[in-house]
Amino acid sequence: MKAFDYTKPSTEAAAILAGSNATARYIAGGTLLVDLLRLDVEQPELLVDLNGLSWGAIEVGPSGLRIGALVKNSVLAEHPAVLSDYPVLAQALLSGASPQIRNMASVAGNLLQRTRCAYFRDAAVPACNKRKPGSGCAAIGGFTRMHAVLGGSEQCIASHPSDMSVALLALDALIHTRGPGGERVIPMGDFHTLPGARPHVESVLLPGELVTAVSIPRSSFAHHSAYVKARDRASFAFALASAAAALELDGNTVRSARVALGGVGTKPWRCPEVERALVGKPANSDSFRTASALALNDAHPSADNRFKIELGRRVIARALEEARSRP
Ligand code: SF4
Repeated sequence: MKAFDYTKPSTEAAAILAGSNATARYIAGGTLLVDLLRLDVEQPELLVDLNGLSWGAIEVGPSGLRIGALVKNSVLAEHPAVLSDYPVLAQALLSGASPQIRNMASVAGNLLQRTRCAYFRDAAVPACNKRKPGSGCAAIGGFTRMHAVLGGSEQCIASHPSDMSVALLALDALIHTRGPGGERVIPMGDFHTLPGARPHVESVLLPGELVTAVSIPRSSFAHHSAYVKARDRASFAFALASAAAALELDGNTVRSARVALGGVGTKPWRCPEVERALVGKPANSDSFRTASALALNDAHPSADNRFKIELGRRVIARALEEARSRP
């Protein structure tokens, strides 16, 4: 591990100033960054510890939830308002990592998780455009069982690892930020970027800009929601395919739906074609199967991950079933 300096600012302005340097990295829970430091994948000259800032509250109001960026994943997953009104979020959080990691990991860190592509995490592999821009991509033509089938480019096909982000996408969450240019509110669907020609850029955050909070508007669909994750083992594993689904019901008819996929895209992936197909249909297994078959039609799989197309459709149908079953 390369030596680095460390600072723990006590004001937002000082944090933004320190973090604006290209060789600085923000740290909160450190559950991923410390891994990457040990692996020599990340080699910052300065770590800016955000734990001196007061972004650790969850506020419940008439317009919805506001979650401070430093709230721990375990605290959010067990909050009574999340358990009762946003079950998809609690399920997504509890399906990620281990209890020990959830006790340390922050909401902002979860949003900004970096890929688990094995070639990215192995600094001895010379070709990785995300780790070393312009070096190539060892995954293309390599082993790609865990990689994305949606949103890839000729430069990168790494899948996005966050479960929480998939739930936030289905819930129409908003990301609140503050940086050298002031404050911004970014819709969740616009927060992560596709790899394109610049896989090392993973979000719309600008240098020094910090996530300060996440808000989830109160809605008519969040209560009937669920998260389903298919993975290689029952815990402490990343999604092969996962789905967040939420339904607004009028009796047994779907008035509106929200569907997002994880594990299959280079970013959390919304499925508007599935959502549109459900509107006005009876909330039953036939409708869910028919609509979910529309997902992933634009997928570009390899021989290793072709199975993700059918798996992705099945987890959507299952998540819709579970969302409908919520009392
Ligand atoms: Fe790197 Fe992306 Fe290729 Fe993985 S898929 S080796 S992260 S460029």
